[in-house]
Amino acid sequence: METKLSNVEGFVRPEVRKLVPYQTKHMPECIKLDANENPFPWPAGMREALFSQELAFNRYPDGMGTELKTCIAKYTGISSEGILIGNGSDELIQLILLTFGGLGKSMIIHPPTFGMYQIYARLTETTVVEVPLLNGLDLDTEQMLKAAQVPEAHVCIVCNPNNPTGSLFPREEILRLVRESGKIVVVDEAYAEFAEETLIPEIENYPNLVILRTFSKAFGMAGLRLGYLLGQPQTIALINRVRPPFNVNLFSQKAGILSLDYLSEYQGQIEQIKAETKKLQTALKLVPDLTVYPTRANFILFKPNDPDRWASEFLKRGFLVRNMGMLPSLGKCLRISAGLPEENERFIRAVREISAL
Ligand code: PMP
Repeated sequence: METKLSNVEGFVRPEVRKLVPYQTKHMPECIKLDANENPFPWPAGMREALFSQELAFNRYPDGMGTELKTCIAKYTGISSEGILIGNGSDELIQLILLTFGGLGKSMIIHPPTFGMYQIYARLTETTVVEVPLLNGLDLDTEQMLKAAQVPEAHVCIVCNPNNPTGSLFPREEILRLVRESGKIVVVDEAYAEFAEETLIPEIENYPNLVILRTFSKAFGMAGLRLGYLLGQPQTIALINRVRPPFNVNLFSQKAGILSLDYLSEYQGQIEQIKAETKKLQTALKLVPDLTVYPTRANFILFKPNDPDRWASEFLKRGFLVRNMGMLPSLGKCLRISAGLPEENERFIRAVREISAL
């Protein structure tokens, strides 16, 4: 029989046809200040402890993540039934929208904020409603509440501290949104360990509050893809219905369990990262014609007069920074995360050089 030449593109879902693949930069030769990671190696002994374990990689991992959830329960004070683990917190954003979003439903976000919310909305056919931050920095709770009034609004995402601005929003404002909207309010606390503020203790009061956390930032495990979601058990059980059965691999589960034995070492790293962020901020503030935004995370958003030129000058000097492009109210900005102390010293020298060009 004759083989038909199939028009593969013709089978593609309309919403996928419009998608552009997410581009990530992989430039290991550069000093990476572009992805808000923890630049320090794991606490002494942790790597050895992890690699010396006998792990049965020929078997599927514990699909329920029982031991990891027990450790996270101890760390957060939320019972295991109120925890869902994910292949990075990215996956959990998708699971939230698969559960509560979809065609005809909407999600409210506050641009400028983390870009993956939009991407998962598109994949799940959820409509995005944008309520921009006031002056690009402050939560517009009134407008968010207004947007939440329509029945199709199901989910509202607050990123706290916010990526990319670094702003920490007042907890009362977020709680007002939780109370008065009655919708599913997701608080993304990816950077909470640096801000040392969390809404976790409020979970017991609100079945519509869920909190997203990750091991990618303070715990230095971005490469292992491990995140978790906290909420009341009934809410978590609903989201658990759409979770793939073995979504977190065995190695990452074990690394997560182990890391929580090293909390005081991590706390030392967090203090150092906070001090380094301050040092970078102080140095940037001394540069004329450069706006530096306040931050409570491990990164800094700033605005030179010609961000594209600055980004390429940084790259010439071996630094990878995040060019944020055009942000609502703020315009074109760059974002850097704190590197190792010696990297930051070199970065500050590069800033002075570029500003003198
Ligand atoms: N939320 C925020 C605000 C982030 O900045 C990031 C990572 N850049 C994530 C979630 C995703 O983190 P991960 O998937 O690595 O857990």
